[in-house]
Amino acid sequence: MLRVRALFAVPAVAMVAATLVLTVPVSQASGQIAQEKVDLGVIARIRQEGLERSQIPALAHHLTDVIGPRLTGSPGMKAANEWTATTLKSWGLTGVEVEPWGRFGRGWKNVSYEGRILTPYSQPMPGQASAWTGNTKGTITAPVMVVEGGVDSIAKYGTKLRGALVLLAPARPLPPEFRDPEERRTPVDSLLAPVNQRARPPIGWDTLLVKIQKQQAHADSLLRAAGVAGVITGSGSAYGTIRGGGDWSATNPAMPIPVPNVIVQQEQYNEMYRNVTSGVPVTVQLKVQNRFLTDDLNAYNTLGDIRGTDKPDEYVMIGAHLDSWHYGNGATDNAAGSIVMMEAMRILKTLDLHPRRTIRIALWSGEEEGIYGSRGWIKKHPELAPKISAYLNLDNGTGRIRGVWDQGNAKAIPIFEQILWPFHDLGVVAVRHGNTGSTDHVSFDDAGIPGFNFIQDPIEYGLRTHHTSNDVYDHLELEDLKQAAVVVAATAYELANRDEMFPRK
Ligand SMILES: [Zn+2]
Repeated sequence: MLRVRALFAVPAVAMVAATLVLTVPVSQASGQIAQEKVDLGVIARIRQEGLERSQIPALAHHLTDVIGPRLTGSPGMKAANEWTATTLKSWGLTGVEVEPWGRFGRGWKNVSYEGRILTPYSQPMPGQASAWTGNTKGTITAPVMVVEGGVDSIAKYGTKLRGALVLLAPARPLPPEFRDPEERRTPVDSLLAPVNQRARPPIGWDTLLVKIQKQQAHADSLLRAAGVAGVITGSGSAYGTIRGGGDWSATNPAMPIPVPNVIVQQEQYNEMYRNVTSGVPVTVQLKVQNRFLTDDLNAYNTLGDIRGTDKPDEYVMIGAHLDSWHYGNGATDNAAGSIVMMEAMRILKTLDLHPRRTIRIALWSGEEEGIYGSRGWIKKHPELAPKISAYLNLDNGTGRIRGVWDQGNAKAIPIFEQILWPFHDLGVVAVRHGNTGSTDHVSFDDAGIPGFNFIQDPIEYGLRTHHTSNDVYDHLELEDLKQAAVVVAATAYELANRDEMFPRK
């Protein structure tokens, strides 16, 4: 891409007026010359609207501080579906709807959590209930016991564990984090370094998820048979961070409510483990109240359009998952991606731009449990698959966009190189040959529709916020998200105006 810069040192004034046809030698891989019409005038307006009049801070505040965590099937998710739909409508989008993608199962909400270690000395035990797990019978006081070998070896304890809170895994070492801050913003060199990636193996999602649910249900039946009062799980992260997931086998109303399972700080978990295994009795006082919700077993996506002009029945889709875990309030995962996509639509609408193809935003639910919302939507709309030119996804935290993966579609490289070139100065420098998995663009890729996930600066996604109690507004990089909204708005607009559909793999 560096080559591109030398060619295009065009004076600013000329840039604003001109619709420029970019003809560039592209990466050797494709060996083809691709031409993209990039409207620099429109791009300049998109930059101005997105960088100077951004709604990102307000959107971020409302979705995280006001609506809060959005576990699929929970009241928070419902509020988020409604608020995003109302907001998109208020910006003038058409075809806005909160659409059911299918039967998800029981919703769940944590009502209260109180934990305290009583012996060998008294201290608060901060923690959170693991999603879709059950309640304690009021406030309980129980001995803590270790199950060596994990849940599958629980039977050998006979009745010894009755009424106990059990630790199912050994203590986890917490080495110091000697990570270089540089890793928070990816240096250009490593962004441009070739990656030899194997093709992404198709994942039989349904078989995989059924297998996981079976394992969860089996583990729970062993625990109930042993009569334990509950499970205490270590967070796996250091410095008091609570990181977790959930037992979504219990979304199935036919399944029994699992035993209580609380996620506590790894440091306290390790301390309890050391004490119990060295013969020091540990007693915990615990009260966990959760609610399973069965009034509506469906789950929903929010969708909305900017209708196309001469190709209205062809689509460019942009999206992100709106659902989150409940340990923080899903700020970087994935309020960040959701508000970037919303802001991109706001920018295009505010500038009164009229793309040739319809640009459709999709805010999915069910992603954390198995990209259910996007897969469900595609299953529900097979008639649309051939009409979707491309789908753009954002789901790697709060960092600015640095480029995009071609998802194994080498024809994508020259197209993205030219469309993203005007954002080189904002750090967008890499169109990479490679795949990313396990988020919503995969649903499109699996359906043979060009689906792409943007490359972002990692900031502290893996280190601090991904699925943790730290995932809150304060850890959002708002300037990065403004940049991302500008890049998404421009990319969607340019793809919507292409003469041809995006080339399939
Ligand atoms: Zn995510």
